[in-house]
Amino acid sequence: MLTALALWMALCAGAFAQVRNATVTYTYLGVQLRGYRVGEEFMIPLDRIIELGWSANSSSIGSKIVAEGKTYQVPTRQVDGHTCVALRELIQKMDGISSWIPGGYDALEVVSAITSVSVRSGAVAINAGLKVKPTVSLMGSNDPKVVIDLEGARLAPGIQLELDSTAKVSQYRPNNVRIILDLPFTPVLPQKQLANAQSFNLNFNSPERLIQNPTKSDPPKVNSTKPDPAPPIIVEGEVSVAKRNEDEIATELFVTVPKPGWKGIATVRRPARDIVEVAIPTIQAKLSDIEKDLSKHIRSVQLRQDTGLTVLSFKLTGRMGAVLEPSSEGFKLTIVHPTGSGSLKGKVIVIDAGHGGKFPGTGNGPYTEKVLSLATAKAVQKALEAEGAQVIMTRDSDKNFRDSLADDLVYRADLANRNSADIFLSFHYDDAGSTPPSGTKSIYHGGRDTDKYLAECIQEFIKSEGPLPNLGAVNDRKFARDSGFSVLRNAKMPAILMECAFVRNPNDRKVILTDQFRDGIAKCVVKGLKLFFGQK
Ligand SMILES: [Zn+2]
Repeated sequence: MLTALALWMALCAGAFAQVRNATVTYTYLGVQLRGYRVGEEFMIPLDRIIELGWSANSSSIGSKIVAEGKTYQVPTRQVDGHTCVALRELIQKMDGISSWIPGGYDALEVVSAITSVSVRSGAVAINAGLKVKPTVSLMGSNDPKVVIDLEGARLAPGIQLELDSTAKVSQYRPNNVRIILDLPFTPVLPQKQLANAQSFNLNFNSPERLIQNPTKSDPPKVNSTKPDPAPPIIVEGEVSVAKRNEDEIATELFVTVPKPGWKGIATVRRPARDIVEVAIPTIQAKLSDIEKDLSKHIRSVQLRQDTGLTVLSFKLTGRMGAVLEPSSEGFKLTIVHPTGSGSLKGKVIVIDAGHGGKFPGTGNGPYTEKVLSLATAKAVQKALEAEGAQVIMTRDSDKNFRDSLADDLVYRADLANRNSADIFLSFHYDDAGSTPPSGTKSIYHGGRDTDKYLAECIQEFIKSEGPLPNLGAVNDRKFARDSGFSVLRNAKMPAILMECAFVRNPNDRKVILTDQFRDGIAKCVVKGLKLFFGQK
């Protein structure tokens, strides 16, 4: 109580601290909620905390929160007319890990800490502070191993491990803990997808095979006097960085990690416009001496240990794109430099309203894709022309260019090529079966780093001020595995295809016929292009 009061007073003392809109992402639930950043704390309105399945009961001294089966007392505060609770304090009490993504994004990430794992003869008990999302699968065909992935999880610094020789536990990805069992008998997997939970008892060697325990009441008997521990796979050694190629547009770096034995997957983080971080799970490494003048685009390189991770951090001379690919020794990191000063004046930009004429695209009635894409393309045209760009429209009426769809698509990219355009933008609307998500994404052609950076630039503004949720920059090979999208592949300049919204999502349908929505997309495109062309 004393701590709660002291913190509450600290928050009151900070009443003059700036209040900013902020978002929190619960990686284990895959949900994002909005709230307020006050100093280092995240204040979340009580009515939103209910969306997490938690309940709240407030009084003059704070709020009683019932979350994941336990009751917590946390301070409350009025922010922007809402009664809010201090979320980070609550998360910490729940053995969760919360961190502000650095760089002024005001985005808080929450993951669960795995506090204990025990494995004996195929009986597995896992405890975590917050819920995690589990999946169980088999790896390999002869004597398959059981793989248990816990999404939205990190190994707690003081994790209790009681493992027999069949088990290995690792921080497989930044937010994913992996347990691998190499059992001396044939395991049978559960028929059903497991529910998110904070405690699991799984048995791969019993008639039931698998018991999921959503409460912490019944951990399996583990003989702790004769443990046979296998620690998490941690590879020690040096991380080195070397330059392989550099031209006006991009710098290619090779990052080498200690081998053998390291099998994780590294990910790129962008905490700020001028910082690229590579998060590498399960290594414990030092940074080797780095050549002087590695690149004129890189101010410094540092290595630090985060919770369960080694983080290689590059401070750049300005905002740049970054693409990470695995290589035999580690990774290839490509840093894409913008060329220009952020001005769109005189830039030749081809805007393609997707579909048209006999190719209507998805949807129907006023929600027909060819109608929506043309209206959006015109809004973007207006906004770009206001910036002094030279815009060429592939179409400004309802028509197709060729009789076959394949030829029609080639015509559109060719128009951009013939005009030596600086940028090609194609506008579309999406459909995704009966339960489509809500949001906007930018698709780039796989393997083209500059195009990926362009997509990221635009999505950055979709994320912060777009009319619908940000669905990210997406590789076109996710949709067309072998060839990607024709319009993107055939365009010789940086090109992206925007799926502005989902025509069958009820949330998206409410807004996509409005000028406000199209202008919102256009504003993000303009800001994203300026960023791409080097705006500081
Ligand atoms: Zn389309």
